[in-house]
Amino acid sequence: MSVLVYTENWDGVFKKLSFELVSYATKVAEMIGTSVTAVSIGDVADDELNRLGTFGALKVIKVEGNTNLDNQVYTSILAEVAKAEDAKVVVISHNNTGKAIAPRLSVKLNAAVGAGLIKLPVSTNPFTVSKKVFSGKAKANVVLKTDVKILTLSQNSFEVIEKGGAATIETFAADVSDAKTVVKDVQKQTGKILLNDAEMVVSGGRGLKSADNWGVIEDLAEVLGAGTACSRPVSDEGWRPHEEHTGQTGKIIAPNLYIAAGISGAIQHMAGISSSKCIVAINNDADAPVFESSDYGIVGDAMKVLPALAEAIKEAKNK
Ligand SMILES: Cc1cc2nc3c(=O)[nH]c(=O)nc-3n(C[C@H](O)[C@H](O)[C@H](O)COP(=O)(O)OP(=O)(O)OC[C@H]3O[C@@H](n4cnc5c(N)ncnc54)[C@H](O)[C@@H]3O)c2cc1C
Repeated sequence: MSVLVYTENWDGVFKKLSFELVSYATKVAEMIGTSVTAVSIGDVADDELNRLGTFGALKVIKVEGNTNLDNQVYTSILAEVAKAEDAKVVVISHNNTGKAIAPRLSVKLNAAVGAGLIKLPVSTNPFTVSKKVFSGKAKANVVLKTDVKILTLSQNSFEVIEKGGAATIETFAADVSDAKTVVKDVQKQTGKILLNDAEMVVSGGRGLKSADNWGVIEDLAEVLGAGTACSRPVSDEGWRPHEEHTGQTGKIIAPNLYIAAGISGAIQHMAGISSSKCIVAINNDADAPVFESSDYGIVGDAMKVLPALAEAIKEAKNK
């Protein structure tokens, strides 16, 4: 019996996300009295795989050579490993990859899914998880009744815990003969902080009035080393690319700092960012709903406040 955790790598390197997942899986394993096995798919050096032991994995299973980014293949591999390891809980990220894998894996393992979790299970007998519902307006405790459970964890919602252990590494030969797609070419975004990885995010809404005004968002983001985001009408208008849109129908993020400028704070927008550790709202309407969900609020014109903030941060950095 074990808790299995799927650790994604990016060109052979793990990011903080993978360590959050292993830390979370380790705590779940402690709750049900078992150990953690991490699965890594693709070519990752043993030194890098060893790092997973630091966060609590006792065993790392490497499945090499399957870097074709096919989620159906990844699901088949994870299902095989889960059965071989007698996994009772499988932990996956609640990112695009995880959202593609979890339902498929659920069918293959006849496993209930607790999706988009931000904390540890409430209890293990019955196995109960707490999750946000109704776009974050309420929380529900959900009992997962199947023998095997799949948990998808929201990024940046669980702390990385270094335990200082070591893992044994084993190779697994997976049967991927059911691959139905061939990835011929991969073009990766470069030179930009990816929204899901960003510790800080500066975001603009319709209040910025036009694409031409986005310089004030980008300048502040650059000074902070932050990613940039936007509300849905902004990407619908084509002012910003769709991958920047956060909310119910966009990306769900949980950065340490989210600055919302010219954003009214509609429930559908807040659903994507309400797990941010600190929310700062800039709006010229003192009654804008966004202020109800913000830690700090500035009533003012975003076109003046954003450059003033950037200037003040630059000055503070140069001191
Ligand atoms: C099914 C469904 C799903 C949706 N999904 C999403 C989603 O995923 N993400 C999302 O964002 N929306 C989503 N929406 C849309 C959502 O309901 C809101 O319409 C949208 O979030 C509003 O965007 P906004 O705050 O940028 O614009 P507005 O609501 O127009 O607000 C603009 C704000 O800017 C302020 N402002 C104006 N000028 C200035 C200035 N100079 N300085 C400072 N502030 C200024 C105004 O006071 C106002 O509060 C969805 C809607 C539906 C029905």
